Amino acid sequence: MKDQRLYLDRAGWEVSVNPGPSSINCFHTCDGDYYGRILPGEVHVHKDNQDFCVNCAIENGILTTERPTLP
Ligand SMILES: [Zn+2]
Repeated sequence: MKDQRLYLDRAGWEVSVNPGPSSINCFHTCDGDYYGRILPGEVHVHKDNQDFCVNCAIENGILTTERPTLP
């Protein structure tokens, strides 16, 4: 199995799951209306009133696949 891990790389950001029943709009308008929504059950990151889907969080450097080096 491919190693698929994401690391939160920004202070003050948190990871949550949209509890539903409504979708949440992605703060960073991503590809079209459907993909701009964070659906119920979808993992996303947020800070203050900014919600980013995982794709936009990776694109903006909030989430990264780069493993941090151990201190
Ligand atoms: Zn997005």
